[in-house]
Amino acid sequence: MPILPILKYPNQTLRRKAAPVREFDAELVALVEDMAETMYAAPGVGLAAPQIGVSKQILVYDPATAEEKGNYTALINPRIVEAEGEEIGEEGCLSVRELCAEVKRTYRIVVEARDLEGSRLNFEAEGWPARVLQHEIDHLNGILFIDHLSSLKRTLYKKKLKKIIEAEKQGDIGESAG
Ligand SMILES: [Zn+2]
Repeated sequence: MPILPILKYPNQTLRRKAAPVREFDAELVALVEDMAETMYAAPGVGLAAPQIGVSKQILVYDPATAEEKGNYTALINPRIVEAEGEEIGEEGCLSVRELCAEVKRTYRIVVEARDLEGSRLNFEAEGWPARVLQHEIDHLNGILFIDHLSSLKRTLYKKKLKKIIEAEKQGDIGESAG
């Protein structure tokens, strides 16, 4: 199973609204397995299909601590159907280089989705897992965590990113999944 390259902001595929999945077939299973492997290798706690250039409503996530990792969940066509409370917490993103920032999220959510076989799922999440899910579901709608920051913070980040990209070009450092 290959580890896939992760697209980085400002790649435009990250900004597209992902299409719903209609076929629950072997191809979907294989894609999800590659996504999980890519997520663990990065390492990350979640990965959405647009991050590997596939504009479909698919995500994998594993919010467990390091010792308990390996038991990921795949969600197809997920959406948030209930939301309650607020919490501020730190986030980063595999598609946003060198940035961690505090983001306000809903504390408790109810998610509806399909599993890999197309069966309907409906479950509740709170706190950290709910944060990870909101971050990944945002990706399926073309939204990045930096969109939740103040415009000042975003402007500062864009300046920093320009320098990072320049340095990469000069040093000829290839993009990796890290
Ligand atoms: Zn992300």
